[in-house]
Amino acid sequence: MDPIDLTAIELREAIAAGHFRAVDVVEAYLARIEALDGELGCYRETWPDRARERARQVDAGALTGPLAGVPVAVKDNLCTDHGLTACGSRMLENYRSPFTATAVARLEAAGGIILGKTNMDEFAMGGSTESSYFGRTVNPWDRSRVPGGSSGGSAAAVAARLCTAALGSDTGGSIRQPAAYCGIVGLKPSYGRVSRWGLVAFASSLDQIGPMTHSVGDAALLLGIIAGHDPLDSTCVEQRVPDYLAGLESGEGGGETAALPMRIGVARQYLGGANHAAVEQAIEQAREVLAAQGAQLVEIDLPHTEYGVPTYYLVATSEASSNLARYDGVHYGHRTEAPVEDLVELYSRSRAEGFGDEVKRRIMLGTFALSSGYFDQYYARALKARRLIRQDFDRAFQQCDVILTPTATDPAFRLGEKLDDPLAMYLNDVYTANCNLAGLPAISLPAGLAEGEDGTRLPVGLQLIGPLFQEETLLQAAHRYQRHTDWHTLHPPL
Ligand code: GLN
Repeated sequence: MDPIDLTAIELREAIAAGHFRAVDVVEAYLARIEALDGELGCYRETWPDRARERARQVDAGALTGPLAGVPVAVKDNLCTDHGLTACGSRMLENYRSPFTATAVARLEAAGGIILGKTNMDEFAMGGSTESSYFGRTVNPWDRSRVPGGSSGGSAAAVAARLCTAALGSDTGGSIRQPAAYCGIVGLKPSYGRVSRWGLVAFASSLDQIGPMTHSVGDAALLLGIIAGHDPLDSTCVEQRVPDYLAGLESGEGGGETAALPMRIGVARQYLGGANHAAVEQAIEQAREVLAAQGAQLVEIDLPHTEYGVPTYYLVATSEASSNLARYDGVHYGHRTEAPVEDLVELYSRSRAEGFGDEVKRRIMLGTFALSSGYFDQYYARALKARRLIRQDFDRAFQQCDVILTPTATDPAFRLGEKLDDPLAMYLNDVYTANCNLAGLPAISLPAGLAEGEDGTRLPVGLQLIGPLFQEETLLQAAHRYQRHTDWHTLHPPL
């Protein structure tokens, strides 16, 4: 048994049972990162000394918890008081946070061992991890392809087994889409389920932190650890956190032999023409698997689906233009060394040097959408569309418990393919962004492989969407699917 091959649940049990020492597990992972990450580019920085020290504490019994000894990685927009938090940007290239994000602190308090910070699109804006100032990450399944984004480093690291599990953030799909492209599980929790304290803000009404893992069980374990009220984030709700892991085996939808008492909604707006054949096939197979488990399939209608991408790109860029105003070389971030005449020039030169093209594009779009004269036409209108999208889901959830969709229309695209075509990149979020607009929890699961002409195999993902704060139901359905399929057990050829 190689610790590298185990899920977080299996690994913590193997360590607790004395089959492995945490220090050996950490060494195995560090050696693997050394061997493979030069080419994959998953990590922006690693923390070998700190990881070894924490592993020694686990072995000495001084560090315990539900994640004791499990090596994890965290996206580089999560603040840590160790190392740097650079957010994929030159703007924060040397930023040392004085505090640690609540979700990260909770992972560590549970005994998790952080191996390092993972690469990402600059300020989490993108779907390919190509906009990082620190270079791109490649897809472990095919190195000529993107890992997805913006949490591409975390997704590729889990897929390549350069960590057992990771944290990502999801504003419009950044956990789920890279999870789908890399063949792993990615969960975006309900808005308000996980504290955003210490997450570098992109679009504050959409951002959520969530787990990226090998299995639904691991996602349930990690969510249980990071979820729950935090006085430091006023949008984080004061609602009881269920035992998600126990819920997989018990309760309504849990239990192995009982029929799955769920109605699974399928919407025509997510199926057909636009999807790759392997994606359609994955959905078809998932319907069969879930129906064979006793789930009832119902047709639902989500009529405002097509407004999702434009609405998302107005709301997200507007919020980003405001959130990113703080990076001016004085309050925060890179300061130009060029001689300047006055403060305004200092600001503008610092921002011109510190931000990359995509971030600048978003700031300009958002500033325009919020500007007087255009506010009603763009931002205010987007808020109305957002309401309609939310109402679509509210109605659908009167007919079903969980909604089944693809995560993305296609498997991973080629490096560089969409770099000069922002619109094509944005359209990539068509199946994921609406969940963020509505605040809903959604999970992406490995659900098939697309065979390329060149003999490569690329993962495709399916998405399950649940009602607000119904992660438990979502995880039960996802777990049941995984019990009866083996897509999540496949590894990329490395
Ligand atoms: N691809 C989307 C965007 O570029 C989603 C990003 C995210 O979820 N952080 O905005």
